[in-house]
Amino acid sequence: MSHQKTILCPVRCAGIGLHTGREAELTLLPAPPGSGIVFERADLPGAPLIPARPEHVVDVHYATTLAAGDVQVRTVEHLLAALSGLGVDNLRVRLTGPEVPILDGSAAPFVSLLKTAGIRRYLLPKTPIWVRRPITVRAGDRWISAEPAGRLVVDYAMTFGHAKFPAQRIVLTLNRETFIREVAPSRTFGFLRDVQALWSQGLALGGSLENAVVIGEEGVLNETLRFEDEMIRHKVLDLIGDLYLLGRPLKAKVTAHGAGHALHAHLAREILRQHRAAEAAATAPEPAWELPFLTPEPVSPAAL
Ligand SMILES: [Zn+2]
Repeated sequence: MSHQKTILCPVRCAGIGLHTGREAELTLLPAPPGSGIVFERADLPGAPLIPARPEHVVDVHYATTLAAGDVQVRTVEHLLAALSGLGVDNLRVRLTGPEVPILDGSAAPFVSLLKTAGIRRYLLPKTPIWVRRPITVRAGDRWISAEPAGRLVVDYAMTFGHAKFPAQRIVLTLNRETFIREVAPSRTFGFLRDVQALWSQGLALGGSLENAVVIGEEGVLNETLRFEDEMIRHKVLDLIGDLYLLGRPLKAKVTAHGAGHALHAHLAREILRQHRAAEAAATAPEPAWELPFLTPEPVSPAAL
């Protein structure tokens, strides 16, 4: 049996947000069992809280944004991926700005931070979410599906419409080791052709070669890639982060084709819907059947 976890002691880092370009300090604090992952906007009056749950997703445009009322926290997915990879179930995430620092664009700095904090195991068991029947969500020719499996397996494919990077695909069985080695170091990426459009939408204002792989006409502008197929690995990283909004480990085979944050969040909601329906059915009282055969047949005295 696997136990719920938090961290042993508080840890801190700081940096700018990828989209807002705003500086924020991020402090990870231990949290009690069963409390889940909860963000705290320490820079706002009353330090409002935003639970990392699918129902708090309000924007999925180039990053995942959570909100409670009109208080938001942006670009939560890389931190959530690291928490999923290291199996941290309960955490207070104190933030002094609107966006989680992008750091180097990957989940590796968060993994290091969590390792520095140390992991504390609680007695309370983890309760995974099992996908019981296949679920598929689509948007045009992009889709993502989840089907029953004994562990988390991801099969992700993507086309990029780029001469040097036409398409990539990866299949991975996720556990702590494969996440840390194969997924966490992959950085967020963007195409130079999209940068002007992103800036005009007020996005990627903090983006640079220090925190993103940037792809021009001729190829990658950064000095090196961390993996030959770093982009598709980062898609897996985003998916793991978005699916951790479930707040529990997921046991399923997830297949994605050209998906993104919107489809990831949609799938998480559908998985939760299926799970809640199954739990409700399992705890429902037995139906009160009419049992007509219990009515005694009239017996004629001659038959006695
Ligand atoms: Zn990402």
